Amino acid sequence: MTARDDDRLLSWGRVHRGRHRVAGPAWPQDVAFAAAASSEGAGTTLARGLGRSYGDTCLNIGGGLVAMTGLDRAIAFDRTSGILRADAGMSLDAVLRLAVPAGWFLPVTPGTKFVTLGGAVANDVHGKNHHAVGCIGRHVRRFAIWRSDRGVVECGPDTETELFKATIGGLGLTGILLWVEISLIRIASSSMTVENERFDTLDGFFRLAEASADWPYTVAWVDTLSTGDRLGRGVFSRGRHADAGSLEAHGSGGPAVPVDAPGVLLNRWTVGAFNRLYYAKPGSAYRGAQHYDGFFYPLDRLGNWNRLYGRRGFYQWQGLVPPSAAKPAVHALLDRIARSGEASFLAVLKNFGDMASPGPMSFPMAGTTLALDFPNRGDRTLALLGDLDQIVAETGGRLYPAKDGRLPVAMFRSGYPAWTDLERLRDPMLMSSFWRRMTQSE
Ligand SMILES: Cc1cc2nc3c(=O)[nH]c(=O)nc-3n(C[C@H](O)[C@H](O)[C@H](O)COP(=O)(O)OP(=O)(O)OC[C@H]3O[C@@H](n4cnc5c(N)ncnc54)[C@H](O)[C@@H]3O)c2cc1C
Repeated sequence: MTARDDDRLLSWGRVHRGRHRVAGPAWPQDVAFAAAASSEGAGTTLARGLGRSYGDTCLNIGGGLVAMTGLDRAIAFDRTSGILRADAGMSLDAVLRLAVPAGWFLPVTPGTKFVTLGGAVANDVHGKNHHAVGCIGRHVRRFAIWRSDRGVVECGPDTETELFKATIGGLGLTGILLWVEISLIRIASSSMTVENERFDTLDGFFRLAEASADWPYTVAWVDTLSTGDRLGRGVFSRGRHADAGSLEAHGSGGPAVPVDAPGVLLNRWTVGAFNRLYYAKPGSAYRGAQHYDGFFYPLDRLGNWNRLYGRRGFYQWQGLVPPSAAKPAVHALLDRIARSGEASFLAVLKNFGDMASPGPMSFPMAGTTLALDFPNRGDRTLALLGDLDQIVAETGGRLYPAKDGRLPVAMFRSGYPAWTDLERLRDPMLMSSFWRRMTQSE
C-alpha cells in the first residue's frame, strides 16, 4: 500500500488546513498497511471519514490520515430485526438508501447524511431526538477496531467493555473502526408529520420545548440578530415519522457551490435579510407532511455550502449549558451575539435529555445547546467566541469538539475530565491536530 501527500486537506469549517500523508484502504485487511504507509515519517496517523467535522478533530496536520471512505459496504442487514453491520466508511446517506425501502431508519442522525458510521461513532453524534433516545452510541451493538498494538479487537457492551465505551465519542483515538453494528428503528413511511411554529421570545422556545416532550424530534432555529423584546425569537420545529405512506428513499443531491464565494457574502445585512424572510415565510408556521430528507437534512440540498464563507472559512461553535442555568445563560449568549455585530447564519437551539451515553467523552448531557457559525474575521470573531465560552464555563457547561476549531485547552479539560482516561487508552500510533493541541500544551 502506498500513501500520497496532500497539501489541501481541510476540515468542514475550512479554517484549518495542512499537509497530510494519505492512504486509502479498500478492504479491512488493508487498514494496517494504510496506517503504516500514512504514518511513515511523522509516526502518527488518524482515520478520516467524510471530513464533516468543522474543526481540527478530523485532521492530523504534518502526519498521516487513513481515508476510510473506500470501506463502504454493508456486511449484514437483517430486515426482520433491523440490525445492520456495515463497514465503518459507509455513509449515513448509503445506510438510508438501503434501510428506508425496507422500513427502517437511523436511530439517531446528525443534520447531514454525509457522515460515515465511523465518524458518527467517534463523535457520538446526536440528533433532533436526543431528548427521547440519546446519542448514537446508545444504539451501537458492537464494532471492531484495528489497533497498532493489538491488531483487530472486537468490542461490545460485554466484550472489551472499557475500549467499547472509550471508542464511543473517543475522537478516533482508541483504534480505527473497521465495522459497526447498529440497531435501526422501524418506520412505516418515509414521510414525517411536521409542525413548525414561530416563537417571539426565548421564553417561547422553552415553553414549546416543554410542551413538545412527547414528540420524538424537536429543534429550533433562532434569529441571532433580533434584539430587545424580540431577543431569542425563532421557529420551533417538531416531527415524527408518519404512520403510513410510501417507503421512498431520498433522491440524489441538488446543486453545489462551485467556487469559494467572496468573504463578504454572509454579513450582518445579508444574514439579517435572510432571517427576516425565514421568520416570516409561510413554512415557519406549517403543519403537514415532509419527506425525511427535507426535515433532517435541509443543508444537504446545496453541495459544498461551506464555500459560501469564502477562502478564510468559518468557525462553528456549539455550547451546552445545564438545565438550572439554561434560561439566563442562553439569554446572555444571544445578547452578547446581538451586540457583537457578527451574524450567525445557522443558529440552532435544542434541549437535550438526560439519557447518558456509554461514552465518557460524549458531548451531550441534560441541558440546552446552542450551535452557531460565524465567518472567520480573525481576532474579532475569536474575541466573541471567547466571551461565549466564558458564559458557558460559568454554568459548568461544555463545548462540542467536533464543531470547534479553537476550543481552549482549559475549557476542554474541565468539560471532559475523562480526557486522561482517553489518553491512557489511545492507540500510540493515532493522533489528531485537536488532541495534540489539548494534550501537548500546558
Ligand atoms: C451540516 C452539518 C450538520 C451537522 N449536524 C450535527 C448534529 O446535528 N449532531 C452532531 O452530533 N454532529 C453534527 N455534525 C457534525 C458531524 O456529524 C460529525 O463531525 C461527524 O463525526 C462527521 O463524520 P465524518 O464521517 O465526516 O468524520 P470526520 O469528520 O472525517 O472525522 C470525525 C472523527 O471521526 C474519526 N473517525 C472517522 N472515521 C473513523 C473510523 N473509521 N475509525 C475511527 N475513527 C474515525 C476521526 O478520526 C475524527 O476524530 C454536523 C456536521 C455538518 C457538516
